Amino acid sequence: MNYSKRFLIKPGSKVKLSYIDPDFKDKHASKKDALKIVERNDLRLRELQELLYAEHKQSLLICLQAIDTGGKDGSIRHVLGAMNPQGCKVASFKQPNSLELDHDFLWRAHRDVPAKGEVTVFNRSHYEDVLVVRIHNLVPKSVWMKHYDQINAMEKYLSENNTHIIKFFLHISEDEQLKRFKERLDDPSKHWKISENDYIERKRWNDYMAAFDDMLSKCSTKYAPWFVIPANHKWFRNLAVSQIVVEYMEGLNMKSPPPSVDIDQIRKKYHAAKGGGV
Ligand code: AMP
Ligand code: MG
Repeated sequence: MNYSKRFLIKPGSKVKLSYIDPDFKDKHASKKDALKIVERNDLRLRELQELLYAEHKQSLLICLQAIDTGGKDGSIRHVLGAMNPQGCKVASFKQPNSLELDHDFLWRAHRDVPAKGEVTVFNRSHYEDVLVVRIHNLVPKSVWMKHYDQINAMEKYLSENNTHIIKFFLHISEDEQLKRFKERLDDPSKHWKISENDYIERKRWNDYMAAFDDMLSKCSTKYAPWFVIPANHKWFRNLAVSQIVVEYMEGLNMKSPPPSVDIDQIRKKYHAAKGGGV
């Protein structure tokens, strides 16, 4: 199945997450089945990233959004971890610090936009400014309502300047979140991740879903599409994300740059005779 088509939010469509099944796992019966495909995608991802790096003309920005425990960290580890760290970085969006608050809300996003040849993953993103900011009334509605158009304008600007943008919303159910909170409690190595605030925030589930619906409806564009990934099954989430990134990068029409030297001449000069010809 073509996941780039299947999970794309068509620009202009009205999204209701409650109609999208977070349990979907396609025809794949099990994790083992999917793992082979993920491994194949990982190899291809590495080749494509090297090409992007060598070409040095365009860059790729991948945004990840999800409710707490939705799988942002896991997606980074399993899928994007396949990339060569030289040329790939992650930017995490926490509560803005005072320097960030002293600027317009898109400043910190723009600061971390990938340079030519690079891939950057946003772990959360500028979309927090239409999510947590909206839900907690951190700025008045008249202000956050403008953020959608402002985000679209910035993303259009970036894409016109050779930064390609793909955005993944990792979709889990309310029950699945509780299960994952519980797993954290049961695994001492995960205790550091637990915050009581996550449980308190969970009470606002419906507010979050409404904010996600609006974000997906208003900001999926031709130049910076949103994909909603069924993410209750972690292995399916990894499979779908890796597949879409590969398909997207294959569409970038990248070309290895021509050599800057005369290859035949170098070969003759330094490799014809034993010892490198020098
Ligand atoms: P975590 O991703 O678990 O490390 O948590 C980061 C926290 O920062 C989350 O609770 C986000 O909602 C919060 N956060 C990110 N961006 C903003 C923002 N612009 N304003 C307020 N809180 C934010
Ligand atoms: Mg958290």
